[in-house]
Amino acid sequence: MAFVITDSCLKDELCVEACPVDCIHPKKDEAGFEAAKQLYVNPADCIDCGACVPPCPSDSIRPMDELPDDHKQFIEVNSAYYAS
Ligand code: SF4
Repeated sequence: MAFVITDSCLKDELCVEACPVDCIHPKKDEAGFEAAKQLYVNPADCIDCGACVPPCPSDSIRPMDELPDDHKQFIEVNSAYYAS
């Protein structure tokens, strides 16, 4: 499993600061940050700790298996960011 960020993400990076394994990108100093619609969790590296959830001001991060049906597409949206 992994946690998933959805499109209400504000790109404020509070989750990035909380993540102990640096699996949320792009960060402000990385290429693609300005163009990115949101931040994304790398499902291959996420350890399911949940540390990113409390700091999120827009309630944009959920465990994969707790996404509502109309947000399940963000599982693929997050993983696709790391596919290339
Ligand atoms: Fe990072 Fe933990 Fe959030 Fe996964 S659940 S993105 S490891 S802070």
